[in-house]
Amino acid sequence: MEKQGARRRRVVLVLPPFQGHITPMLQLGAILHSKGFTITVAHAEFNAPDSSKHPEFFFLPLPANLSDYDNSFWNLLEVITAINVHCKAPLQRYLVQMMEKPEPQDQVCCIIYDTIMYFTDAVANHLKLPSIVLCTTCASNILAWHANPRLQAEGYIPLQESLSNELVPELHPLRFKDLPLDASSEVVMQFTADLCNIRSSAAVVWNTIEFLEHSVLSQLQQQYQIPIFSIGPLHKITPASTTSLLKEDTNCLAWLDKQVLNSVIYVSMGSLAIMDYKELVETAWGLANSDQPFLWVVRPGLVKGSDQWVELFPKGFKEIVGKRGQIVTWAPQKEVLAHDAVGGFWSHCGWNSTLESICEGVPMICRPSFADQKVNARYLTHIWRVGLEIEDVMDSGGIERAIRRLMVEKEGEEMRQRAIDMGQQIKSCVQKGGSSYNTLNDLEEFILSQSS
Ligand code: UDP
Repeated sequence: MEKQGARRRRVVLVLPPFQGHITPMLQLGAILHSKGFTITVAHAEFNAPDSSKHPEFFFLPLPANLSDYDNSFWNLLEVITAINVHCKAPLQRYLVQMMEKPEPQDQVCCIIYDTIMYFTDAVANHLKLPSIVLCTTCASNILAWHANPRLQAEGYIPLQESLSNELVPELHPLRFKDLPLDASSEVVMQFTADLCNIRSSAAVVWNTIEFLEHSVLSQLQQQYQIPIFSIGPLHKITPASTTSLLKEDTNCLAWLDKQVLNSVIYVSMGSLAIMDYKELVETAWGLANSDQPFLWVVRPGLVKGSDQWVELFPKGFKEIVGKRGQIVTWAPQKEVLAHDAVGGFWSHCGWNSTLESICEGVPMICRPSFADQKVNARYLTHIWRVGLEIEDVMDSGGIERAIRRLMVEKEGEEMRQRAIDMGQQIKSCVQKGGSSYNTLNDLEEFILSQSS
């Protein structure tokens, strides 16, 4: 039942223009809305969430002046810096206007911002509003960023090729090559420092689960000295509503209905990772030769320098797709992973994809590309043991072998069983009495206490 006391309180969410960050923030918004809060979503004008799909929220577009980056959008560091420079004044202006209104529901009780939108802290401070950070990666990723100054002082940065397979001191199980970013340059060092700095935030909310990252969360708790609320996985708490920036092709669900239990390998590299033409061709033949049915997401821009992906497929591959595969530009991923026919997920290991896969008991082939994906892959393969990694050069033979190991061999069957067990454990965490369930109630009380 809706709590009217809370409905009079407004929480402003500040989210960046990236799919993997938009989704968990909107999910958090839906959860807080169901608890009675009024929700305003402040977002960069570029890559904006579809407001028509969320009539329960108010939307506040912030001019981000990203036109200079049209040709180099994937220089993410520059884009993030630009957003942090350009969105600050508009957010402050809008909030001042909002707070000048006399209606109680316009009074902002708290701002929750994504780690990437760190400019928000200064705005919140200026307006004397409490702020909370939302972390949408795993906690281990942030712990690895925190280690940069220490690793630099100990002479490990710049990273040395000869050490890449060695374990990083005090960051078990990460090897040097699993570190999310090479912090050799001052720019990267500053970037990670900006993201790690929780400034004057009153609390940190994490889309993770206590038992998955217990020891890392304890270490971060000691460093932060403010409450950490681990309330994930958010997508299992809120009813499914689409947060996709691209149109989902739901036809693939009918195709999945016709496939045998656990037979389909689902392939997706998320919203940002890219591959070159050679990798596309090797992937196509690896899938073809594996003899497994496959569902492959080839989104526009996945292949470097080309939006015309259909023409890129090698001769003869389209016939195989006709017999045994489906290719879509964007899938309803959570429904796909929950489908009984899907027995494996070949993924770039973004944190949302990782959570979505293990929640449904689907083991993974890990092909991390950059940033936290490498940390997630290491945990999936070596700690949770629900995935195997393609580490070498990606050729069709290696891909075919990896698919067989996961989909038909005993090793894959054992991973699937571990993933199923883990998924059940995770689901119990969001049910009444579970760790995320209880922590979410604590978070609600905490937010209410900030404005009393
Ligand atoms: N996703 C989707 N359909 C697709 C591919 C991805 O809905 O075809 C969603 C996926 O469910 C996840 C998000 O896009 O919630 C990707 O986030 P993730 O953190 O896994 O990776 P990123 O895109 O940030 O690299």
